[in-house]
Amino acid sequence: MVRYTVKPLEIIKLKERLISIFHELLSENERERAKKDSHAQRPPRWCGFTVHVTINCPFACAYCYIEDMGFNFGSPRPYPLSGRELAFALLMNKAFLPGRTGSLIAIGSVSEPFIFPNKALEYLEWLGELGNPLQFSTKQYISPQLAEKIANIAHKKKISISPLVTIITLEKADILEKRAPSPEKRLDTIKNLRDAGLRPILFLRPVIPGVNVNEVSSIIEKARDAGAYGVVVGGFRVTEKIVKRLENIDLDTSEIRRRIKKLDRKQRAVPFPEKQFILKEVKKQGLIAWASTCCANSWTAEVPCPSACFINGPCTKCPNACMYPQHSPPESEILIAFEKLGLQAEIRDCRIILRNYPFRGAEFLARNLGRRDVRVHLRKIKSSSI
Ligand code: SF4
Ligand code: SF4
Repeated sequence: MVRYTVKPLEIIKLKERLISIFHELLSENERERAKKDSHAQRPPRWCGFTVHVTINCPFACAYCYIEDMGFNFGSPRPYPLSGRELAFALLMNKAFLPGRTGSLIAIGSVSEPFIFPNKALEYLEWLGELGNPLQFSTKQYISPQLAEKIANIAHKKKISISPLVTIITLEKADILEKRAPSPEKRLDTIKNLRDAGLRPILFLRPVIPGVNVNEVSSIIEKARDAGAYGVVVGGFRVTEKIVKRLENIDLDTSEIRRRIKKLDRKQRAVPFPEKQFILKEVKKQGLIAWASTCCANSWTAEVPCPSACFINGPCTKCPNACMYPQHSPPESEILIAFEKLGLQAEIRDCRIILRNYPFRGAEFLARNLGRRDVRVHLRKIKSSSI
């Protein structure tokens, strides 16, 4: 249930305070390295700011898209920034908002974050200084001791950490995820995280038509029995390379090919009409169903969803019970905050019309801060009358 109120002007003050603290803490070299890093520029997405702990991923899942993004399945290495440099890089990002009701942070989008557990813990510690809701997604086995360390960070820093544990198959893991820990080990991970006092959630993504749809009920049941609180259900994004990889391990891709009109290097979402049925199945089994990771992170942190899914997103009406206008800040305060951030906007009830676009991610910043839907309608520049 939402417990935290969004106060845009306080968030801006917190950002100024944290920038000055981190500025003192870091050497000039560290500050420069952080400012040049992609975390200082990348725009947020629905799930929040994606944070990379590892570069490349040895698990080599057959459905994985990282090769299409320029990463590979060999030689993983820790991300080069230190924890405090990473925190400073995010603070340098114009679209980033710190604090409990600030931006969501999603760890582990282009690799497994716990390949280097100490690096992951270091990042959690330092990101914890910013106070944002943290979420990681993992296929790694997390031992009771490691789960305890993660929970201690959340406790010590008074922050929220939302663990997503990915399991998408019990029968085909040997071919689909042959180098990742087994689904059974991941069920143990769910148990260990719950025993440590965290709220683990099953990440049921990707659901691949014709490949694992038949398994979803038993996966949900096993995750529930292991201690998962809920399930995030997600579809499948493909490229030509991914479909060929699936065919090379003798999987039937006819249903994917039937649903997708064009296959090339671009990632495309496979139409996923089963999603509503699976969300219902999750609820039937007594778990919380989410259609988006931002909602699972928001529920754990007890904040109104920063992506404003409750206004025009995939809200599943989970027990967080985000509501408009109760959980969106007042217009007057948003407009003052926008002015300080260089944004020009009009607010019409639950919608913000952005009139300028001064930096990447401005529309998400407006969405996060205003907890409203955002449209970008740039003002036409009047031609000179000379
Ligand atoms: S664990 Fe994730 S990042 Fe690593 S190969 Fe599998 S899908 Fe890709
Ligand atoms: S599902 Fe709806 S109520 Fe739950 S966190 Fe998302 S927007 Fe809020």
